Amino acid sequence: MPQVPQRLEYDVCIVGSGAGGGMAAYALTKAGANVVMLEAGPEWYSTRDSKMLVPAYASPRRGASSREKPFGEFDGCIGGWDIEGEPYTTAPGTRFDWWRARMLGGRTNHWGRISLRFGPDDFRGKSIDGLGDDWPIGYDDIKPYYDQVDRLIGIFGSNEGLRNAPDGIFQPAPRPRCYELMIKQACDNLKITCIPGRLSILTQPLNGRMACHYCGQCGRGCQTNSNFSSPGVLITPALATGKLTLVTGAMAREVTLDKQGIATGVSYIRKSDGSEQHVRARVVVLAASAFESARIMLNSKSSLFPQGLANSSGTMGRYITDTTGAGLNGFIPKMVARVPHNEDGTGGNHIYMPWWLDNKKLDFPRGYHIEVGGGFDPPSYGFMGGIQRYPGAGGYGKSLKDDYRRYFGASVGFAGRGEMIPNDDCYCEMDPKVVDRFGIPVLRFHWKWSDHEYNQAKHMQETFRSIVAEMGGTVFAPMPTKEQGYGLASGGSIIHELGGTRMGDDPATSVLNKHCQAHDVKNLFVADGGPFVSQADKNPTWTILALAWRTSDYITQQRKEGAL
Ligand SMILES: Cc1cc2nc3c(=O)[nH]c(=O)nc-3n(C[C@H](O)[C@H](O)[C@H](O)COP(=O)(O)OP(=O)(O)OC[C@H]3O[C@@H](n4cnc5c(N)ncnc54)[C@H](O)[C@@H]3O)c2cc1C
Ligand code: SF4
Repeated sequence: MPQVPQRLEYDVCIVGSGAGGGMAAYALTKAGANVVMLEAGPEWYSTRDSKMLVPAYASPRRGASSREKPFGEFDGCIGGWDIEGEPYTTAPGTRFDWWRARMLGGRTNHWGRISLRFGPDDFRGKSIDGLGDDWPIGYDDIKPYYDQVDRLIGIFGSNEGLRNAPDGIFQPAPRPRCYELMIKQACDNLKITCIPGRLSILTQPLNGRMACHYCGQCGRGCQTNSNFSSPGVLITPALATGKLTLVTGAMAREVTLDKQGIATGVSYIRKSDGSEQHVRARVVVLAASAFESARIMLNSKSSLFPQGLANSSGTMGRYITDTTGAGLNGFIPKMVARVPHNEDGTGGNHIYMPWWLDNKKLDFPRGYHIEVGGGFDPPSYGFMGGIQRYPGAGGYGKSLKDDYRRYFGASVGFAGRGEMIPNDDCYCEMDPKVVDRFGIPVLRFHWKWSDHEYNQAKHMQETFRSIVAEMGGTVFAPMPTKEQGYGLASGGSIIHELGGTRMGDDPATSVLNKHCQAHDVKNLFVADGGPFVSQADKNPTWTILALAWRTSDYITQQRKEGAL
């Protein structure tokens, strides 16, 4: 860890190095700013540290998950649902699951790379159906940044001309795999729009990075830097400018202020020795992930801001959302004992189903898209989800092995990912009693789904069942009942948490303005999912990246004008 000279004042201090922090570091250093980045976790570069291509059988654990690696032994993320010494709490009767990364690059080391733009309607939901709020910006404000992100990072897909699933600057999409072709055929019959996936994985070389070689293991991090992760694609070039000082193992506690209410820097805990440190900066950009940035601001109390920094509106920690999620697997007899062939590809969907229906005819607002799974993934611990689920399968010895061979690749999976409407029962606040191992107070969550989300999950379940039936298959699980919430995943568990420091034109109802700049503190910005006003059914990261770039350009312009 570099020693940060205590008296040096940086132009910008960025907290967090994931999608938002990485993009801010890239854009600001390229624009000439001297940047210091505080990152709570250790250095990790997929080109050096990934376990790509290690077979599951090379490990005594056979790739099984653990507390530290909930998504499997070789997963590229350090962190998880439950970080030792770093708790969060939930209000009585509340379930909320919060995944936190603690490493350079954050969750971009193992994310699914599904890279969807928000559409024009996603910025003006309230104007359309009266629910939630409109954003203070529209699609046209952010489109140039989506274009820049496409060009810099690289994304495959296809131009389809769908109004609310905007096209991008795409590399060619890989061909669908066998099971994906069968799903598409069923969707075509059912009039469900099914198009090539949109993932930030290179199918052609770009900016010195190699194209994907289709090992299918993106979740472990890519040794050839062919998919998007913040360290490989943003932080490495930012470091190459010589303008970025990276401080890992630095847990930010608080944004510090002068008497006029201007941010002066960030205090942090140096994890290696537990000491309290401070870094000075003319501008502070929080990108510690949506709720963690809200936590830092809520913890930054002073006589000027007794309810937390930049929280004069009292809305900090409010309007929080997660993507809705429901899933189903089906068994497809037509795919039993199919000829084994190389079905490798990228580590994600080669097809997906964008939202295709008109809400006016439905009992829930907004929509969802569908992600698919299946095929011949390399086996590891727990693969196929239990052989006994297949007709007549199980037992011992040779017949069991034969069953595995016969049924391998004969199932498909569907995951619905939809839009939640922010509601007053979902928020986070400081827990009055609990602190983490650094002595920093932790967040307490309140969460309640509404019928909007339950009805959407019901629709997802019915849709998945109709697709499996159209494929001639049977499902592995009965339809969840209303009492079971129609299988709606718990809040936070889809790991697309957003809001908490939302943007808006009115300082009485929002924390940030349309440039993601705090209404109350002009040199304080947020560059993660915190500023989002609504969720959309799209996975959020492409929008986090585009917004972070837009915010960084605004900071550069304001610095040039002498306003910051
Ligand atoms: C398994 C999985 C799959 C996903 N798939 C997709 C997908 O396909 N498409 C999509 O759009 N999104 C996906 N996501 C979500 C995506 O990963 C996030 O939206 C994105 O990474 C958020 O970026 P961020 O910069 O806000 O936060 P993060 O990427 O989480 O980065 C935050 C960083 O801040 C650091 N940090 C936290 N607190 C502090 C502190 N106090 N001091 C200093 N540093 C701190 C962390 O260590 C971390 O490096 C997925 C997430 C997971 C976990
Ligand atoms: S599938 Fe492609 S992008 Fe993903 S890890 Fe393998 S080579 Fe890298």
